[in-house]
Amino acid sequence: MKSKIAIYGTGMAGAVLASRLSDDFDVTVIAPTDYFEVPMAMPRLMVRPEYGEEAIVPIAEALPKAQYIRGRLVEFSRAGGRIEDDHGGQRMVTADITVLATGSRFSGPFIRSSSGSIEERKAGFYQLRASLASARRILIVGGGPVGVEIAGEIIETWPGRSVTIVQSGARILAETGGTASVLATKFLRRRRVKLLTGERIETPLPPNGYSVEPGQARTASGKRIGYDLMLCCIGGRPNTEYLLTHFSDRLDADGRVRVTPQLLMEGENDVFALGDITDLKENKMALHIAGQVSVAEANIRAMAAGRKPPKTYTAKTGNLMMAVTLGSQAGVIFAPLIGTLRSTWLIRKVKAETMLVPKYRKQLGLPA
Ligand SMILES: Cc1cc2nc3c(=O)[nH]c(=O)nc-3n(C[C@H](O)[C@H](O)[C@H](O)COP(=O)(O)OP(=O)(O)OC[C@H]3O[C@@H](n4cnc5c(N)ncnc54)[C@H](O)[C@@H]3O)c2cc1C
Repeated sequence: MKSKIAIYGTGMAGAVLASRLSDDFDVTVIAPTDYFEVPMAMPRLMVRPEYGEEAIVPIAEALPKAQYIRGRLVEFSRAGGRIEDDHGGQRMVTADITVLATGSRFSGPFIRSSSGSIEERKAGFYQLRASLASARRILIVGGGPVGVEIAGEIIETWPGRSVTIVQSGARILAETGGTASVLATKFLRRRRVKLLTGERIETPLPPNGYSVEPGQARTASGKRIGYDLMLCCIGGRPNTEYLLTHFSDRLDADGRVRVTPQLLMEGENDVFALGDITDLKENKMALHIAGQVSVAEANIRAMAAGRKPPKTYTAKTGNLMMAVTLGSQAGVIFAPLIGTLRSTWLIRKVKAETMLVPKYRKQLGLPA
C-alpha cells in the first residue's frame, strides 16, 4: 500500500513537493485557495493582470495526480488536521506523514492571498490595475523587495506618476546587500520616486492592505503625505495559528516552527515543516526553499521505505542573495562574494522578463 501523505499549503514548498511525490504516494494537498500562484509575479500582475493566465494555475491542472481538499487547517494535533471550509464545515484529515507548508501572510491579501477562488484572485488584479491607472499619487508603505518591485512596475507603466515609498528602516532593501540598496535608490530617485527612509506612518493603515480612498498619511516626524491610493507592503508573518492548541511549545517567539536538521517539527517523527513557517535562520525565499524541498523529499521516501530520514538541511544564514526587479527591463542582483550586479541583460533574463513564472511552471510539469 502506498503511504498517505498530507501536505498543507500549495505554495512554493507544498506544491513543488506534492508534484514530486504524487507519482509514487497517495498525496493529498489541503489549501484554502483552489490555485497555485507564482508569488514573484504579483508586482507584474498589478499592472499586467492578463499575465495571471500563466502565473495563476488551477490546482487540478498544477497537481493532477494529487487529491485536493479545499479548506484551511485550523487545528493540528497528533490525531491529524482539522480542516475548515469557507462555509464553516469541518473534517479531519489523517496521514502517515504530514507536511506543514502554510507560508506567510502580509499586510494585505493582495500580496499573497490565502482565501478565495482563482476567478476572484484574477479579478482582484484587474481591479487593482484600474485603481492604479486612475490614481495620481501613490503611497507605498514598506521599502522591502515587494514595495520596491511594485514601485518599479508602476513607474515603468505610468512614467512620471507620483510615487512615494515610506520605509521605517535606514534604507530600502534592508534584507540584501547595501550596494543593491544604493543602486535601487538611485534608479528610483532618477525617476522621481520619493523615498522617505527612517520614517513610520502613524495614521492607521487600511485593514486589507490598500486603500483607494484619497487621504493624507502622517509620519511619526510629522510629515504629511497626500495620496489617492495607498499600498501597504509590510510582511510576512507565519501562518501557524493551527499549532497553538497542541504544539505551542514548538513555536519560537515569532510564531515559526522549530525544525530539526531533517526538517521535521521538533519532537515529532512524522511531521515535516517547510518554507516560510520554519525557524531556519535564512531569508524567507523560494530560492532557499528549493533545497528544503529536496531534503524533505529524500527523507519522506526513506521513511516510507521504513528507513530513518537520511538528509539534513543547513540554513543559508547570512546568504543575502536576491534579485529585485525595477520593472520588466531593470533591477539589481546581489550575489554573495561577487556583490551587486547591475547588468540589465542579466536581470532581465534572471527575473524581470518573466518574474520566474516559466521556471516554476516547469517545476510543476506545466508548459513553460
Ligand atoms: C511578492 C513576492 C515576491 C517574492 N519574490 C521572491 C523572489 O524573487 N525570489 C525568492 O526566492 N522568493 C521570493 N519571494 C518569497 C517566496 O515567494 C516565499 O518565500 C515562498 O512563497 C514561501 O513558500 P511557502 O511554500 O512557505 O509559502 P507560500 O508560497 O506562501 O504558500 C503557502 C500556502 O499555504 C496556504 N495556506 C495558508 N494558510 C493555510 C492554512 N491554515 N491551511 C492550509 N493552507 C494554508 C496558502 O494558501 C498557500 O497555498 C517573494 C514573495 C512575495 C510575496
